Amino acid sequence: MPIYLMQNMWLPNATCMQIDKIVRQFIWGNQETGGSWNLINWNMVTRPRINRGLGVRETSSYCWKSIIRALHHLREGFMIRLGTGDVSIWYDKWLEFGKLASILPVVNISDTDMLVKDLWDDGQWNLESLSTIIPNDIHFGILAVPIPRDQNLKDCVVWENSMAGTYTPHLGYTWLLNKSRHMEDDTGKWHWLVKLKAIEKVKHLIWLIFHGCLPTNTLRFRRRLTDNQGCPRCQFAVEDTWHCIRDCRRALEVWQELGFVGTTNFLGGNTVDWIIQQVDSDQGHLFLSALWWIWRQRNCFAFGNHYEGDINVDGSSLGNPGRIGAGGLIRASTGNFLVGFTIFAGVACNLLPELLAIAKGLKLAWDRGYRKIICHSDSKDALRLLSANQVGFHKYRALIFEIRELLRRDWTVRIEHTFREANFCADFMAKFATSCDNGLMIWDEPPQGLQQLLLADIMGISFPRIV
Ligand SMILES: [Zn+2]
Repeated sequence: MPIYLMQNMWLPNATCMQIDKIVRQFIWGNQETGGSWNLINWNMVTRPRINRGLGVRETSSYCWKSIIRALHHLREGFMIRLGTGDVSIWYDKWLEFGKLASILPVVNISDTDMLVKDLWDDGQWNLESLSTIIPNDIHFGILAVPIPRDQNLKDCVVWENSMAGTYTPHLGYTWLLNKSRHMEDDTGKWHWLVKLKAIEKVKHLIWLIFHGCLPTNTLRFRRRLTDNQGCPRCQFAVEDTWHCIRDCRRALEVWQELGFVGTTNFLGGNTVDWIIQQVDSDQGHLFLSALWWIWRQRNCFAFGNHYEGDINVDGSSLGNPGRIGAGGLIRASTGNFLVGFTIFAGVACNLLPELLAIAKGLKLAWDRGYRKIICHSDSKDALRLLSANQVGFHKYRALIFEIRELLRRDWTVRIEHTFREANFCADFMAKFATSCDNGLMIWDEPPQGLQQLLLADIMGISFPRIV
């Protein structure tokens, strides 16, 4: 239905509410859970972009709603033009600067019932009968109000912002506009955001930050959606907006890598000025992408169960039998290192570390909340064993059963064969494991030496295949 038609016609309320509900779902809804969490009040969302909203049109008649909403505010724009003076000195608005009761700190109790005409003494203002103290500027303001001589002139309501006293929609609109500008002296940032050349999802992220409504754990904690306001990435005690987008160790790594750390204005200020300054710098577009990816990465960490990754595992033995170690690493689809493990497991033949690597790798992925994972192993022997029928008496049946149990869990997982040349990062981890005497070790940062290999993998540098 064309939206303009809907603005003028009186649609049934239930229909309007249903349409609004669909729109809300679209903005805040969660595809996975079907639920929605409205971060920002609907009235704010439906305001024009320039007035801090998203410019979403409400389905019910916009014209009438606006008129009714404005009515209340417009009332303040009217005042009383004195005639007989039968209005309260304190509680009626007969002066341009407002009701005296709301301006003066105190009105003497003996004066409360006095009317304006009580201050008139033979066509002159006489404030001496008042017990209330009137400051000089107000006193002079009162003296400037002409006292009507004509006894037939009635007190009347006029539009205060015109000499003529008559109201026109144009005058009302200008007055409202000035008033709202005065109320929101921060219009600059909303103008800036409307004009910002960036994709909508990034603008939406900034919009949330400007409103102070980024759903960090501090905000989620305040709204009782979690009992932990700590950072999911670095376990820092409080995850507020600053921590989320700049101060977290994980975020700082990104800013450092991109050369933002140490530049002017990188530290200090408030989030709004910070974003505007950074975006308006030469590196603006880089900044926007980094901001978006930091936020995304944070969400991947926080809600790991929607998260997918690839895990590469490998086993290594120094001799057959010899010292054995297993290792592996989980990477995001972008190739970024997420977590790794190494385990030294004594002396045995070379099949054991391969199975061990698969078992420990899958276990780590499960424990870290990944629920969509592909496990890459270069051991055909291990893979064959996992799908073999008769393993009930096998030397390593405990491990085989452990892996099969992991595969049966409620997640999307599969094991794929990969060539050894494509598995060099896991190979590094396994070799590393054989060289130390530690049991299982979890690596939240890549160990020394792995970084270059990771980079090579991301950049697609291929190593010759030895057949
Ligand atoms: Zn953190």
